[in-house]
Order: sequence, then structure tokens, then C-alpha cells
Amino acid sequence: MAKLSVVAPFFNEQDVAAHFCVLLEKLASDILERFDLQLETVLVDDGSTDASARTFANNLTGDWKIVQLSRNFGKEVAILAGLENATGNLVMLMDADLQHSADTALEMIAAILSDPGIDVVHAVRADGRTGWKRTQAARLFYRLINISQRFDIPENSGDFRIMRRPVVDALVRLRDKRRFNKGLYAWAGFRQRAIPYRPVERAGGATKWSRLNLVALSIEGFTSFSVVPLRIVSGIGLLIALAGMLYGAKIVFEVLFTGVAVPGFPSLIVAVVVLGGFNLALVGLVGEYVWAALSEAKDRPIYLVREVIQPETKVKTTRRPTRRETSH
Ligand code: UDP
Ligand code: MG
Repeated sequence: MAKLSVVAPFFNEQDVAAHFCVLLEKLASDILERFDLQLETVLVDDGSTDASARTFANNLTGDWKIVQLSRNFGKEVAILAGLENATGNLVMLMDADLQHSADTALEMIAAILSDPGIDVVHAVRADGRTGWKRTQAARLFYRLINISQRFDIPENSGDFRIMRRPVVDALVRLRDKRRFNKGLYAWAGFRQRAIPYRPVERAGGATKWSRLNLVALSIEGFTSFSVVPLRIVSGIGLLIALAGMLYGAKIVFEVLFTGVAVPGFPSLIVAVVVLGGFNLALVGLVGEYVWAALSEAKDRPIYLVREVIQPETKVKTTRRPTRRETSH
């Protein structure tokens, strides 16, 4: 019987863990009945410091494992760990906070099973984002990052997707250390189909993405997928240099033909400040790319696993040593 692996990373999700296990159990029985598929659950504990791993271990049923990373590596890397540990012919990525509904999941499974010509079905948010500023920022981001690429990173499409085995193998082969998954999915290509969905409200807990995190992820996206920022800045630099030369020519002309003494303390200051600021910004930008290159060049593993929790090791994790046992 074909197997579907559901891969879900989690980071401090104790409030929703039990609910997610219920969703998985329901999903397992639905897909067995409707599609004759077996379900395997691969959760990745992305360095949780609360009781989520224990709660998951106590509530999961069927074929499951929890890959516990040695610390928080971020969702992008946690997904790689999940993909590497999934054994199904089909692999579905889901969030553990119940924002990705079982109904949409079933719809995606039905879509991929009904068409052998499709390798990936991904869910696209039908409602867009919340907040005008965020929407505009996202739109600008995608417009810039998609300039002059042979592949397009779609807006409003995230990790909620189902993939055939060859796609999963391809993603695992991409050894980027700074992982920007949306870019990797697009880079990998294959035949993709989008279906619309509406994310559900979080069942509990809070989102792990602050505005600063999003900015950091965008920078990672650019530095691993686009040279456009560098080109824009070099373009501006050239324009400024050109303007400077024209201004210089004008001064030479005035001195030679009209005899005007060189006025221009203010223009000097403006030029110095503008060029100085521009240079600093450029150095910072180049630094981002150098840092990106350095991160890839260091031969560190992308993540470390502390332990793989499976049904038989469950007992070990449910009891923690008391304070008296640990202090000698
Ligand atoms: N997550 C993770 N590592 C992190 C941050 C988040 O594994 O460093 C998980 C989180 O537990 C959830 C999923 O990634 O299952 C999506 O995160 P979240 O709900 O915070 O993001 P949002 O839905 O707001 O985009
Ligand atoms: Mg969420």
C-alpha cells in the first residue's frame, strides 16, 4: 500500500499539540478509507523548551516519529529534517498549529492522486495577507526577487503542499544552509498545481514570526536567490558618478568662461554625505552577500539531531528526573 508522510515542524506548541494529534488521527482514517493510503507522521521538534514533545509523544497514534533537533534551527531547516526522515511515496508538509486544515489536506491528496502528470500540489492563500503594509511589502519583495529569474517564486504560497517522492529527493539534495524554502520549491521546478485555501485561525499559542524575523527571512531570500539588490545599487552608483561628472564639467566651464570663483561649500557637504552614506549602505549590502557565501562555505551540518523519539522510546521521554536525582 502506498504511504503518505505528513511532515510537521513544531516549536513550543504545547497548547495545540493534542489538537493536532486528533487532526492526524482523523486524517489517517480518512485517507485509508478514501484513498487506500497509509499515514506516517514525522514531526520535527525544532528545539522546543516547553512540554510539546512530551504532549505529542503521548497523544500520537499509528506510525509516527519525532525528530528532535539539538536546538531551534528555524522552520526552514526543521522542514529539511522532516523531509529527510520521511519515507512515504507522497509527502505532505503541514503546520502543527492547525492553521492548515484537514479538509484542504484531503483536497490536495485527491488532486495529486487524480493526475499523474502533477508532481506537487501547493496551497495558495485565497485571502491574501493581513494588513495593508504587509501586503505591499510582500508584493514588492516578490516583484524584486522574481526579476530576471528563470523560475517564479509565487506569492501567497507557503509550505503547505504535497509532493511526490522524486520532488522530495530533489529538495533534500539541495544542501543550502541558509534555506529559503519558497525559493527552493520554485528552483526545483517539477509540475506544480496550486489550489486555493483559507488558513484557519491558530488553535492556540502565538505565531513565531515577528516583523524582524520576516525581514531577516527576506534578506536570506535575496542573498540566496537574487543579485537584483546589488545590480540596483550599482546602477544608482553609476548614476551618481555620472551626475558628479556633469557637475564637474559645469564648474570647469564656469571657471574658464565666466570667471566665477568656485562657490559651493553646501554642495560639497551634500556630495560628501550622500556618497558616504551610499558607500556605507553598499558595503553593508555586499557584506550580506559575503556572509551568505561564508555560511555556505563553512562545512557545518545544516542541523543536528538530539534524539529520534518513536513509539517504543516513548516511556523514556514521559518521565523527567526529579531535581534530587539530577543534583549530587
Ligand atoms: N516553527 C518551527 N520553528 C520555528 C518557528 C516556527 O518549527 O523556529 C513551526 C511552528 O511551530 C508551526 C509552523 O512552524 O508549526 C508555523 O509557524 P507559525 O505558526 O509561528 O507561523 P505562521 O503560521 O504565523 O506563519
Ligand atoms: Mg501558524
